[in-house]
Amino acid sequence: MSVNLQTPIDYLKGVGPNRADLLRSELGIQTYQDLINLFPNRYIDRTKHYKINDLQRNEAEVQIIGIITGFKEVAQKRGKRLVATFKDDTGTMELVWFRGQKWIRDSLKTGQPYVIFGKTNWFSGKFSMPHPEIELQSEHESNLRSAMQAIYPSTEKLSNKGVTNKVVSKIMQQLFLETNGRFIETLPTEMMSELKLISKSDALFNVHFPKTPELLARAQYRLKFEELFYIQLQLIIKNLIHKSKIKGFAFNKVGDYFNTFYKDHLPFELTNAQKRVLKEIRLDLGSNAQMNRLLQGDVGSGKTIVAFMSILMGLDNDFQCCLMAPTAILSAQHYQGISELCKPLEISVSLLTGSTKTSERKLIHENLENGNLQILIGTHALLEDKVKFKNLGLAIIDEQHRFGVAQRSKLWHKNELPPNVLVMTATPIPRTLAMSVYGDLDISVIDELPAGRKAIKTVHRYDNNRLKVFKFMKDEIALERQIYIVYPLIQESENMDYKDLMDGYESVSREFPMPEYQISIVHGKMKPADKDYEMQRFVKGETQIMVATTVIEVGVNVPNASVMIIESAERFGLSQLHQLRGRVGRGAEQSYCILMTSRKLSQNSKTRLETMVRSSDGFEIAEVDLKLRGPGDIMGTQQSGVLNLRIADIIKDADILQVARDYAKNTLKLDPSLVSADNKVILHTYRQMSKYRNIWNYIS
Ligand code: ADP
Ligand code: MG
Repeated sequence: MSVNLQTPIDYLKGVGPNRADLLRSELGIQTYQDLINLFPNRYIDRTKHYKINDLQRNEAEVQIIGIITGFKEVAQKRGKRLVATFKDDTGTMELVWFRGQKWIRDSLKTGQPYVIFGKTNWFSGKFSMPHPEIELQSEHESNLRSAMQAIYPSTEKLSNKGVTNKVVSKIMQQLFLETNGRFIETLPTEMMSELKLISKSDALFNVHFPKTPELLARAQYRLKFEELFYIQLQLIIKNLIHKSKIKGFAFNKVGDYFNTFYKDHLPFELTNAQKRVLKEIRLDLGSNAQMNRLLQGDVGSGKTIVAFMSILMGLDNDFQCCLMAPTAILSAQHYQGISELCKPLEISVSLLTGSTKTSERKLIHENLENGNLQILIGTHALLEDKVKFKNLGLAIIDEQHRFGVAQRSKLWHKNELPPNVLVMTATPIPRTLAMSVYGDLDISVIDELPAGRKAIKTVHRYDNNRLKVFKFMKDEIALERQIYIVYPLIQESENMDYKDLMDGYESVSREFPMPEYQISIVHGKMKPADKDYEMQRFVKGETQIMVATTVIEVGVNVPNASVMIIESAERFGLSQLHQLRGRVGRGAEQSYCILMTSRKLSQNSKTRLETMVRSSDGFEIAEVDLKLRGPGDIMGTQQSGVLNLRIADIIKDADILQVARDYAKNTLKLDPSLVSADNKVILHTYRQMSKYRNIWNYIS
């Protein structure tokens, strides 16, 4: 008889109501199935022993052989603790119990060799091990089934309540006993033989009780593949459903706007990457499924022209288009650039931000509704209820991470059909991650910079070299270049950060006095109008130095600026540093990025700075960033649930992910509804997973 894996965990022998409650609340384990899927964090070699004088602080669990030489009771604030002196041929340490003291005192004997196992603490010059797992050496040796013992995820509460690793391991054994270790296969035979995967039952057994390191590796591979395969399958199905269900406007014809611009007004030759991406977009726009595309391209890769030409496709089909940017400065800049491109084509464009005057605002609303206005550019102001398009066909969103999905969908509800959506981002998401996070978005990548760009020279300097940096700034200004100096601004320490900024501003003002030098300053506490004024002075070249907080991080384009100085660079994240650096190197001149730091740097900061100095490739930088921070901090991943993976790791298992994705794609290509006999097991598993929450946990 086979055991139903949806049986509540309470029914497993050795669990009982108390432990069941703990397992539920601490580890989310409700059923037999959940317990099998509690995969070990790591394995330790139980044949290996430490010596007491080899112990290091903050070590993971260790195993030591020794004898107890005596016990004492030590009074403490509440109650007392039992302390045993434990000794091997190299030294002495203490074993400590806060509970169950009588039972322990009675069952342990002095002078006998024991094997202890657990984490050690370093306390007043001595190592101690609280609540060790302890057994007689003779028992330990006869019990040893496998050299590798699984170490399961745990919590403080679990170990305090006596649900130690040993207990979890026992419960797991019981589960294998009750089920005979037979589990329903969840992958088709053919796929398994092609990929040389071991069976589900073998994989589960060896992941919990590895017979050999080789079998453990194969077990892990099989389970990781399966996990990633079903997630990819689900994402791809979602995408297919989206494409077939969500109708959008089709831009059927290529018309005069596009052709005239392409023939007569293109300001430069497009890069091959830009051409390829435009083709991808045009294909999408030409179909009557709604476009939902992410356009990734490093800073300076030329996303704006791609956006503009996509807009022209919309206008050629008599649709209105909008472009939304996260800040007023950026919107204004897009407005300027796009107005310029529109001039010879006689296209109407307006800018709408929080500071647009009421009279002008009214006019814009009117012209939007009657269809006279073709392109609207702006900030969040575009999302206000009063903004009603006659027929919005394409919405482009720049620098996507500033807008939530909710805001995006707000734009949708302005027509009866959703507009086509193009989201542009300069924060490259590593391909592996993008693939799993945005499985339901199509992705285009501009992976090539326009020809003739000079690589930005990046250096790291310590604060005490500031005089040399000032000298360098003067030389660049003498060559009529402009300079950014950026200060960090982090919410919690806001006031201190402003002080740093103002101190910096003062010292720069002293070093670069008026009237010879002019300095702009921009920070978040200024009124938008003042900010704009200062920004414009710099854009027009009236000031040579711009002292700012990270408000200039996104998109600002001043081609004559050739130096980016980042103060307290150790406080910035990698992708932020890369974004900031992207503000220079936009003109023909050699540009520089100077990372200023104090001498006290953490290992993590050092890696970030070294990466910046070494690489200018946004994707490479994003990969390093991902490794340093983990996927949780990268935009968009929190909601997507890629973090909830049980056994696979998006970064470390990128290769398996690729294989899994290819298999998922191919399976659906050959058999979209999964009706063939071969795919029966896939369909069944897929349905089970959605029924019993697992997979839906991954995707919110
Ligand atoms: P980003 O992708 O960072 O938004 P932009 O669209 O602002 O980049 O382009 C950066 C600069 O490169 C702009 O000054 C733009 O005019 C220029 N540019 C874009 N594409 C090309 C190209 N194919 N050849 C030459 N210059 C280009
Ligand atoms: Mg841009």
